[in-house]
Amino acid sequence: MSDPLQRLLQVQDHDTAVDQQRHRKATLPPRAELARVDARLAELAQRAATVGAERDELGARQADLEAQIASARARRAEIEKRMYAGQAAARDLQAMDEETKHLARHVTELEDRELEVMEALEPLDAQLAADAAERAELDEAAAGHRALLAEEEQAIDREIAADQAARDAAAAEVPPDLLKRYEALRAKLGGTGAARLVGDSCAGCHLVLPSMEVDRIRKAPPDAVITCEQCGRILVR
Ligand SMILES: [Zn+2]
Repeated sequence: MSDPLQRLLQVQDHDTAVDQQRHRKATLPPRAELARVDARLAELAQRAATVGAERDELGARQADLEAQIASARARRAEIEKRMYAGQAAARDLQAMDEETKHLARHVTELEDRELEVMEALEPLDAQLAADAAERAELDEAAAGHRALLAEEEQAIDREIAADQAARDAAAAEVPPDLLKRYEALRAKLGGTGAARLVGDSCAGCHLVLPSMEVDRIRKAPPDAVITCEQCGRILVR
């Protein structure tokens, strides 16, 4: 078959097939799934940063309280050691006893504050643990979607390559001027530059042509390039 117009229709068919495959590739379900998972992971990452900062602040406060408790206890132990060494004067013993009592109260107060901090930490740690578990699940799901997506994309790429090769072979038999005109129309008219005349209507715009126009087209020489007067596409009989 060497009729350039029939060849052009083949080019159109393969171009349409490639366009459809590209669209299918862009809208593969695993891609939407992956986007959904990625959006949730971004949300979790943001929360991990906020909650983590809050947790770190409380953790630092707890460490500070523990250091204060340890220091008060050490001070108390030191005083008691001196008290029981038996070398202090009675007057001093009285003051030392007062101080150990004061330190004991101070430790209790610090321990109460530490307990409050630990209680505040509890829900934050639970949140962080739950989020980490969800993140692990999502990471696994994302890996699955990614693998499936790659597989489906490769299959479509193989179909595109086959259509592209068949398209190029057909295009090689279309005169360059006609091909150029087709390309320009295709770019302008939503992917379709050449259409069949089916009965008395144009398969490009689906409008019925006036009967006089159909007559004129039928009587034109077979190699004449005719365009649909309604949509401007190359019309192939
Ligand atoms: Zn038309």
